[in-house]
Amino acid sequence: MESNEVYCYCGRRTKSATSWTAKNSGRRFWVCLKPKGKDCGFFGWHDPEMCARSKEVIPGLLCKLNSLEKKQKVERRAFIFVILVSSFVYWIVYANLGTTTRKGNLEVL
Ligand SMILES: [Zn+2]
Repeated sequence: MESNEVYCYCGRRTKSATSWTAKNSGRRFWVCLKPKGKDCGFFGWHDPEMCARSKEVIPGLLCKLNSLEKKQKVERRAFIFVILVSSFVYWIVYANLGTTTRKGNLEVL
């Protein structure tokens, strides 16, 4: 059954969403399309309940994934910082060399 075939108490089509709670990670459900607070309170599970082993393993994997994503974000920022500092230092050194060369040329003339 597709999500557009399920209707809420308002008589409107529902939307499908995915739960990311520890108990129901990845389990899809249907809810009213109206914004929270103005909805009719309809809720229905799309997927059957997960087995005990899945409930135990999936939250651990999600935690590990989140940790790796945070680590990757920090490393990416550090890399960008190093590139910016290196570029700035290179620009300073290159600008000084250019000045020195010009001075040298002036002395020759
Ligand atoms: Zn509704």
